[in-house]
Amino acid sequence: MATSKSCPACGRKVPEDARFCPYCGYKLCLEDEEFVVIEDVKELESIVKELQNYLPAEWSCKVDKKRKRLKFEISLTGSFLAFSIPQRVRGFLSLEMLARLEEALKVFEHEVGVKLVKDEITPSWTIVGFPPTLYYKVYRISKRSKEN
Ligand SMILES: [Zn+2]
Repeated sequence: MATSKSCPACGRKVPEDARFCPYCGYKLCLEDEEFVVIEDVKELESIVKELQNYLPAEWSCKVDKKRKRLKFEISLTGSFLAFSIPQRVRGFLSLEMLARLEEALKVFEHEVGVKLVKDEITPSWTIVGFPPTLYYKVYRISKRSKEN
C-alpha cells in the first residue's frame, strides 16, 4: 500500500513521493532531506523537555502517549490570565495566545531542527473564549539515507 505523509505547512495528506504540496505549494523537503515522523514516546518526551524553554507561560505541553502526539493546553497561568478579564473579550485573548504559541513553535522548529504539524484540534470550549487543546505531530528533519 502506498503510504502518505502530511504537508508541514497546511497539514493535508500528500503522496509520499510528492516534492511539493499539491494544495499549498510548500516545498516538502530539500533534495537530501526528509521528514521522519517521531512516534517514540521517550523521544517525544525529550522534545517536550526542550520545548519548555520556548513555550509561552500561558501554555503547557505534554506527550499524549496514546496518540503519540504533543498535546498543548492552556496552563494554570493562562487560565488565571483568562479569568482575570471579562468573558466577552476572552475570544480575543485566546487568538492572541494561539498566535504566541505558533510564533514560539516556529522558533523552536528552526533552532531544534524539527517540524511540528498541527494534527488535531479538540474544541474543548468548555469555558467560553478559551483556546482549544491542540495536538501536534512531530517530524525530525534528517538527511536522506542513500538506498542500496
Ligand atoms: Zn500544503
